[in-house]
Amino acid sequence: MARFHTHLSEEDKKKRDHDNIKIREENKKKTEEELVDMRRRQQEYIEKLRSIIPKEKWNERLIRRFITKADIRGEKDCWNWLAGKNSDGYGNFKICNKEELSHRVSYIIHNESIPERLNILHQCNNRKCINPKHLFLGTHQDNMKDMVNKNRSYNCGHRGEDNSCSKLTWKKVKEIREEYIKCKTTQNILSKKYNVSKGMIYYILKNINWYDEEYQKLLISKIRND
Ligand SMILES: [Zn+2]
Repeated sequence: MARFHTHLSEEDKKKRDHDNIKIREENKKKTEEELVDMRRRQQEYIEKLRSIIPKEKWNERLIRRFITKADIRGEKDCWNWLAGKNSDGYGNFKICNKEELSHRVSYIIHNESIPERLNILHQCNNRKCINPKHLFLGTHQDNMKDMVNKNRSYNCGHRGEDNSCSKLTWKKVKEIREEYIKCKTTQNILSKKYNVSKGMIYYILKNINWYDEEYQKLLISKIRND
């Protein structure tokens, strides 16, 4: 990870002290056993990353500093950021003398760089979460739509067939997912075929709208096999 050069300035030290206070506060909520277990999970994950990340990109200090600030758990669980957060509730992590959002750093560590003009969005809607399996790329518009969708779903409790504006049914959603997974089609073609926006197709394929537990398992197993 050669692009993350780290050297400790006075400001860095202040930030480190602030983070340590935050982490200590979070840790006070845990029992001694939970703490030992969390440290074990962090250590195991650092070792796992060491075996995945190419040697020339490995930055031991940075990875260790990053991972030990998060509560690393199972693939399906949220990995909450324990250190400092910004006013929007996103985790902060200092890198190259610059405050970066911790979920963005997580994405970079696990997926190389972030394409220009794209945001990193949370599938789990938990801003503290840095689990790479819960993060996905989207445009600023996606981000806005995502917020609207999540709010709408929160307000009326429906995000599928029950929504009276919906042109889709569960049967059609299943077809869309199957066709796409079998690589028979593209998101563009699906959008035209089912007469819904490309954004909607994207949300269906990402399991954000029309959430389906079985489909989620399939998505996770696909990520694992990639
Ligand atoms: Zn999450």
